[in-house]
Amino acid sequence: MKTQLFINNEWCDAASGTTLEVVNPATEETLAEVQSAGEVDVAQAVASARTCFESDEWHGLTPRKRGEVLYRAGQLLVERRNDIAKLETLQNGKPLFESKIDVAMTAETLKYYGGWADKLSGDVLPASTGDLVYTTREPLGVVGAIVPWNFPLNLASWKVAPALAAGCTVVLKPAPETPLTALALAELLQDAGLPPGAFNVVAGDGPTTGAALVQHPDVDKIAFTGSTEVGKQVMRNAASTVKRVTLELGGKSPNIIFGDADLAAAVRGAINGIFYGKGEVCAAGSRLLVQQSVHDEVVEQLASRAAKMVPGDPFLKATRLGAIVSKRQHDKVLSYVAAGKKEAELVAGGNAVLVDGKGYFVEATVFDGAKPGMKIVDEEIFGTVLSVLSFDDDDEAVALANETRYGLAAGIWTSNIGRAFRVARAIRAGTVWVNTYNLYDPAAPFGGFKASGFGRDLGREALDGYTDTKTVWVGLG
Ligand code: NAD
Repeated sequence: MKTQLFINNEWCDAASGTTLEVVNPATEETLAEVQSAGEVDVAQAVASARTCFESDEWHGLTPRKRGEVLYRAGQLLVERRNDIAKLETLQNGKPLFESKIDVAMTAETLKYYGGWADKLSGDVLPASTGDLVYTTREPLGVVGAIVPWNFPLNLASWKVAPALAAGCTVVLKPAPETPLTALALAELLQDAGLPPGAFNVVAGDGPTTGAALVQHPDVDKIAFTGSTEVGKQVMRNAASTVKRVTLELGGKSPNIIFGDADLAAAVRGAINGIFYGKGEVCAAGSRLLVQQSVHDEVVEQLASRAAKMVPGDPFLKATRLGAIVSKRQHDKVLSYVAAGKKEAELVAGGNAVLVDGKGYFVEATVFDGAKPGMKIVDEEIFGTVLSVLSFDDDDEAVALANETRYGLAAGIWTSNIGRAFRVARAIRAGTVWVNTYNLYDPAAPFGGFKASGFGRDLGREALDGYTDTKTVWVGLG
């Protein structure tokens, strides 16, 4: 297990002299003391990324060679998948089967962007002057990537892979709760043949390490995933050096069940939509909107399914609900459960539990009778709490769905195809799932409307966030 900073393809201790403690949330035991980067360490990482960017070592390579390195990294990750999945579960508390899915998607993301490296092209434009005018896509330079703790490795790859494919160099700051798989990614990229400085990892907290990266004048772009409140701060701090910024922020996504839906599938989708990843998923379907005509039946089925989602040891095969990532987040989730008990009707869960006498576990919790204006409906909880609201018709469903400052994702369950298209069009969200939920693919762009941020991870669109357009005019005399 790597615990140092990774700068210029070397492992080093932090000049700051500080470390951070990584805790296994399922056992409350210390997993590792990891070197924590201060301002000087961040400056060193940025300098190494800048030197690499200015040299021919990375973006001077042929695009195909860059692509080959990324593809090889994807293959190496497949070889190391079991160890890295275990590490993810140890630090995050998610069930091992989920970590395996995360690792598989990370490998796919590395390979997908490996495939894009030699396919970034511009246009030849029909200028009225008769000159030759063409555009190229140029890498932005040094990218600071800042990621949260819920999908530590996977979300890092959503930024690192397209940035490297475009020819940028990267300094990654993982969340302080979960730096271990980011460090494993560094080892992997080095083994795949990435040159010194192209990828650096500085673990540390937000106010020190993250802020230093955002404010550093030699960083050209910040690719951020995290909460809306910190996203706003990042945007403000990046303004003084006119950095490019993309923000993937919070959500309070509506999952809508119409009366004509396949109810068994819809209830499974609702459960998966909120309890997969312990609800610590930015796109979690945390507001379940149920048509009045099927409300009682749906709530009954939800309550019985939620009761079967018993929190357990994340390493056991049968476990479907792991530990909340940290004591802080555990307490936050419980404070929302307490608020929900006062505001709405508890129909499942509602308690903290210990597994083998330890850990930050919270039961799968469902509140019925929820309404806008309640804390559990308006605020992102990021935990195992589902709020059920009811509606009468399509217009009311759409109005409720859009009654949020967020716009990350939404789900629609219906057997009426016209209704599916109409409602999908009316919802203000970056992703809409119809008769499914929580699906992701490296080819499918992901990101927010409204306070859920701007810019897109994944797909071809992500590459636009790591390149600038250069227009070249050639006078033909
Ligand atoms: P957070 O905003 O507290 O932290 C995210 C990252 O930012 C961490 O690495 C943190 O150390 C860093 N950070 C904190 N303060 C900083 C500062 N002043 N300057 C620079 N960096 C700073 O979020 P979190 O609690 O780690 O994660 C949960 C949040 O992330 C939720 O709101 C969730 O919705 C969001 N999220 C969004 C997506 C998405 O794709 N839209 C995906 C996952 C998580």
